[in-house]
Amino acid sequence: MIPDSSFISSEDVPGPTKEEIRCLIICKSKVSSNDTVVDIGCGTGGLTVEFAKRAQIVYAVDKNIDALQITQKNLQKHNLTNKAHLLHKNALKALRDIEDIDILMIGGSGGDLSLIIEKGYKKLKKDGRIIITSILLETPTEALKTLQNLDMSIEVVNVSISKGQIMDRGTMMFANNPITIITAQK
Ligand code: SAH
Repeated sequence: MIPDSSFISSEDVPGPTKEEIRCLIICKSKVSSNDTVVDIGCGTGGLTVEFAKRAQIVYAVDKNIDALQITQKNLQKHNLTNKAHLLHKNALKALRDIEDIDILMIGGSGGDLSLIIEKGYKKLKKDGRIIITSILLETPTEALKTLQNLDMSIEVVNVSISKGQIMDRGTMMFANNPITIITAQK
């Protein structure tokens, strides 16, 4: 897993997803070298880069052009530009043109979560997975309802990570925001 400090970041673009959260997502996604991955809301490219290291191809989608520029820089930094297609589009438009998805990662939805899940489900291969990460309390409720209606098999994990900083007096733990990770299989 790539350390947080090895990503180029910007104040205007969220991310990268913290290393420990990337660990869980990559592990839960069961990504393998033949997989087609779509990263909706690629942000800084934290997850795009990790998936690009392991999958056949990653479509990195973001409606914010700054996000795509930083994602491109991070792919370059890690020599992975040949493993990703960058799409400056809204999620729903991007999904129109992509078929046979193994992993649909949704890290940003801008109010369209249910529609993105439903459209993505249609493009998902048999046994394909949808992963949704959320920092808002409302998002998992909406996601679960939609995924259940599609009869997917679902796992929900909530994680609160604290990291230690070694100081003169001892090691002090600093808390990161809790994150919910939902994984669903077709
Ligand atoms: N996983 C990323 C961070 C994601 S931040 C990382 O590790 O770096 C969420 C991103 O989702 C933002 O950049 C935002 O512009 C994008 N986004 C939100 N709604 C979107 C939509 N409907 N279509 C495309 N991108 C969207």
